[in-house]
Amino acid sequence: MLPIIILKPKKEESLMRLHPWIFSGAIRNLPHGLKEGDLVAVQANDGTPLGTGYYQIGSIAVRMLSFEAQETIDNHFWEKRLAEALDLRFQLGLLRKDNNIVRLVHGEGDRLPGLVIDLFDGVAVVQAHTVTMHLMRTRILKALKVVMADRLKAVYYKSEGTLPFKAYTGAKDGFIYPDAAMTDAPQVAVENGLRFHIDYLEGQKTGFFVDQRENRNLLKQYVHNKRILNMFCYTGGFSVYALSGGAKLVHSVDSSARAIELTNENIQLNFPNTDRHEAFEADAFRFLQGGRTKDYDIVVLDPPAFAKHRDALRQALRGYTRLNEAALRHMPTGSLLFTFSCSQAVSREQFRLAVFTAAARTGRHVRILHQLTQPADHPISIYHPEGEYLKGLVLHVE
Ligand code: SAH
Repeated sequence: MLPIIILKPKKEESLMRLHPWIFSGAIRNLPHGLKEGDLVAVQANDGTPLGTGYYQIGSIAVRMLSFEAQETIDNHFWEKRLAEALDLRFQLGLLRKDNNIVRLVHGEGDRLPGLVIDLFDGVAVVQAHTVTMHLMRTRILKALKVVMADRLKAVYYKSEGTLPFKAYTGAKDGFIYPDAAMTDAPQVAVENGLRFHIDYLEGQKTGFFVDQRENRNLLKQYVHNKRILNMFCYTGGFSVYALSGGAKLVHSVDSSARAIELTNENIQLNFPNTDRHEAFEADAFRFLQGGRTKDYDIVVLDPPAFAKHRDALRQALRGYTRLNEAALRHMPTGSLLFTFSCSQAVSREQFRLAVFTAAARTGRHVRILHQLTQPADHPISIYHPEGEYLKGLVLHVE
């Protein structure tokens, strides 16, 4: 029997609409002795069972794993969820010979709040964002092995940076399959036919940003014979696509030395000894000073999340405005700006307004050609709009 959480009157409504979060203010009682990470049965105020979730300290107190009245969170549950996730990726055509980089589990979008799994040529990088997912890691591993069978080459558990700081979980990043000393896991994976070195051990997030796959491909359509500036390049994803689309020149910028190294490595992997690419270790705002963008036909701005929390929202919006203004002001007539925000706390409308403000300050004619988002392997539950985090605009500047 799981501990039972009973909601205040009327507070079951969002749950009945399959929204997976319960805020702490909606809870009538917390069972005695409940610990962060525990599974809980949730009931409406009148005792109606609403499903099973897990408890976490914070304003989101419970995240739901199942909306069925009685569903046990056992091995079968994990296998079922992961099998559904894998089926969807096959249905999307994302597991091919020339594309083996894919997000297998995207938290709420795959009905597994708090869990992210990316696949890189059969290496699963598992990331727990909550204590429960951390505690469940061996069960998740077991289910992954069953569901992926011989497609699974290795599993790297990477959660030190994502687990809530409040929790003592004893998390340590490292290989959990086939063994902790794993050294020969594939280090290179393929996205749309292009090769990328994946830094499981030290890289940001899961080691590679899977969510820009389609947007990189869109960039590729526009770059032939053009000069490209890729700001916040990280592993150089946009730069590699730009070279493959026939760009005349590509400049990549990142403030992290390791990112510059990774970018150069990935360029070398795909275009050995090319003289069309150069990478610069620099702060983006500094780099853009002095009208630098006048020398490029296409600029990509893909900064890290400026707002990690709601409190930082206003400052984040100002940051997006300042950055986009610095780029837009000097771009040549007829140039394109690919600009992104991956802050979950910033809505699509707010981001567009921040970019609008930037454009208005320059007084230039700016048109929106594309409105971009995250790809289908980062699905968004229609009941959980918070799951939409990646927003992008392609602007034409006159
Ligand atoms: N466009 C990348 C992902 C970008 S992640 C891709 O397609 O994979 C954000 C990157 O911004 C990180 O690599 C980080 O090192 C870099 N960064 C953060 N602050 C920066 C700054 N002020 N100037 C330049 N780069 C910065």
